[in-house]
Amino acid sequence: MKNIFDKIRIVLVSTTHPGNIGAAARAMKTMSQENLYLVEPKIFPSAEATSRATGADDVLAATTVCSSLKEAIAGCDLVIGTSARTRSIPWPMVLPRECAQTVSEDKYSSVAIVFGRENSGLSNDELELCNLVLQIPTNTEYSSLNLASAVQIICYEIYLLGIYESRVESAETDSPLVHQDKMEMFYQHLEECMVDIGFHDVDNPRLLMHRMRRLFNRAQLEESECNILRGILAKVQGKIK
Ligand code: SAH
Repeated sequence: MKNIFDKIRIVLVSTTHPGNIGAAARAMKTMSQENLYLVEPKIFPSAEATSRATGADDVLAATTVCSSLKEAIAGCDLVIGTSARTRSIPWPMVLPRECAQTVSEDKYSSVAIVFGRENSGLSNDELELCNLVLQIPTNTEYSSLNLASAVQIICYEIYLLGIYESRVESAETDSPLVHQDKMEMFYQHLEECMVDIGFHDVDNPRLLMHRMRRLFNRAQLEESECNILRGILAKVQGKIK
């Protein structure tokens, strides 16, 4: 499975202001995106782009400059165009969060997210190269974000999903979760131990075991953690006997 950050390229089409290129590179780097493609930028490289990129000059330095959108999206199995306007010819639309979900699907190995020019966005011909169109919800009377702000929002949604995925992956590599039968043995042991130390009265149990179950079930113990707890209980019992 390809990492969600590696498979994405951010494509800026015919950007007029070099400062926006730098600001987009900065927005990308904060969200762990590094693959920037520029299609016929008006001015690039430029001191203004570098200055607006601040610490993201490595993203700028690695930029791929292309002479057409087709060249920039070559090899991609999913192309998402972005637009500030609802188009006269409807195209399948997605919101930023849905876009993040979609790009994270394993069936896509290389995804382009395409941004238009500051003054006129993407042309209809360019949108026709896209599988989906993404619109960031805005005030209906004023929907046009600054180019780098649009890049930021979309990359942020992908980043959120990316960190969630890496958390799930790291959780999966830890010790497996304890099975229910082992939890039952743990609860029996815990109850026994609490009786041994005089903390629990089986004739007047109140809600103690109920609360203990709620506590440990909430924790979703891993096998190794359960073993540690069983070890502690055994030691306590050993000490008082
Ligand atoms: N006047 C242009 C706006 C371009 S803004 C137009 O009417 O299309 C420059 C680029 O930023 C857009 O092409 C798009 O890629 C992105 N962008 C700006 N606002 C956006 C929004 N609300 N949703 C999605 N992308 C947006």
